[in-house]
Amino acid sequence: MDDREFETRQIHAGYEPNEHGALVPPISPSVTFGYESPTEMVGEYRYARMSEPTREVVDGLIADLEGGAHGRAFASGMAAINALYTAVLSAGDHVVAGQNLYAESHTLLTRVFSTFGVDVTFADTTDLDAVADAIRPETALVYFETPTNPLLSVSDIAGVVEVAAVEGGEDAETDGPVVAVDNTFASPYLQRPLALGVDVVVESLTKYVSGHSDVVAGATVTNDPDLDEALAFVQYNQGATPSPFDCFLVARGAKTLAPRMRTHCENARAIAERLDEHPAVECVYYPGLDSHPNHDVAAEQMRDFGGMVSLELDATLEETSAVLSETEVFALAESLGGVESLIEQPAPMTHQDLTADELAAAGLSESLVRLSVGTEHVDDLIADLESAIETVLG
Ligand SMILES: *Cc1c(COP(=O)(O)O)cnc(C)c1O
Repeated sequence: MDDREFETRQIHAGYEPNEHGALVPPISPSVTFGYESPTEMVGEYRYARMSEPTREVVDGLIADLEGGAHGRAFASGMAAINALYTAVLSAGDHVVAGQNLYAESHTLLTRVFSTFGVDVTFADTTDLDAVADAIRPETALVYFETPTNPLLSVSDIAGVVEVAAVEGGEDAETDGPVVAVDNTFASPYLQRPLALGVDVVVESLTKYVSGHSDVVAGATVTNDPDLDEALAFVQYNQGATPSPFDCFLVARGAKTLAPRMRTHCENARAIAERLDEHPAVECVYYPGLDSHPNHDVAAEQMRDFGGMVSLELDATLEETSAVLSETEVFALAESLGGVESLIEQPAPMTHQDLTADELAAAGLSESLVRLSVGTEHVDDLIADLESAIETVLG
C-alpha cells in the first residue's frame, strides 16, 4: 500500500480479504490457538495477549498511516505511553518532557516513574535552546506533544530531533536519547513525526483515528525493530492489550479519517477566526491563525491545523463555567477527536489534578475553554457558541 494516497491506505492497509473474500476484517474472539503437536502451531498465533488476528489489522493499519515499519495497538493511549516509558527508562535515567503534556502523561512521570528513580525536566519544546539546555548525558528520552493540550503550541519536530542527536550524542555512550512524539492531536493525516526523524510515535486511537467516541485504544509506531521488540515485551508482560471488538471499532472508524479531519479543520478554522474577533473573547489559540506564535512551523510540518481550538474568555472561572453549561450543540464533556463537538474547561475538568501553581506554570488560565470541533454544520456550531456567550456575558 506504500505508494498509494492516504485516503486509499486508510481503507485497505492492514487487511487482505480472507479466504471467504470478506471485505471487512472479522472479529476474532479466540484467546487460544491450536497446536498440531507440542512443538508445532497450527498457524502463527498462540495466545491472544501475545498477538491475535483482529489486533494485527490495527497494528498494520496504524503503522501504514504513520509511515512506520512496526505498529502496536494497546488498550488505551495511556497504556501505549506507559509502555514507551517502561521500555525506554530505567533507574538513573533522565527524561526531557514537553511542559504542556496530557495530564496523565505528566502524572506518570512525576508520580510513578519518579518513584523508580527516573528524573524529569519539563521544557518548552517550542524553544530549541530550552531543549538543548535540558538534555543531560543521562537523558534517555525526549518526549513531547505537538500541537499541545490544551494551548496548541507547535514544536519543530525535526529541530528537536536534531538538538537531541547533537546534545545527547556528544558524551553519551549511545547515539542520543530516544525521541518520541504523542501524535494524538494531529493524527497521522495531518502530521507524520517518523518522517521528521523521531524514533517512535505514540497516540491515543480513542480520539481522531477511531473518531466516533466509542472505543478507548492506543498505539505505538516505530521503524526501530529493537525498540518495537522492547515495546512488545512490555505489552505482553504488563498485558494492556485491546479487545478484538475494540480493534474492530478502531479499524472501522479509521476508514474515514481523512474526510473527517478535513471537516474538523475547516470548521475549527472558521470558529477560530470568528471568536478571534468576538468582544468577550480575550484570546484564541489556534495554530492556523497568523497571530499564533508557532503558525509558521505548523504550516511547515502539518498538512492543516487541526480540529482543536482553545480560547480565554474575558470572564471569571464561574462565568466561564456558566457559558459551558449553556451550549446545546457542543456537549460539555472531556475527550476530543470525535464527530460530535465537545466543550470543556481545563482548570476544573481535564486538568483538575494539577495544583494551582502547576496550572499557572503551564499557562492555563481559569477562563480557558477547550473546543473539540466536530463535523456538524459550522453555522450551527458558531451560533451555539455565540448564543451561550451572549446569555452569560451579555
Ligand atoms: C487522550 C489522550 C491521551 C490518552 O489516551 P487514552 O486513550 O485516553 O488513554 C494521551 N495523549 C493525548 C494528547 C490525549 O489527548
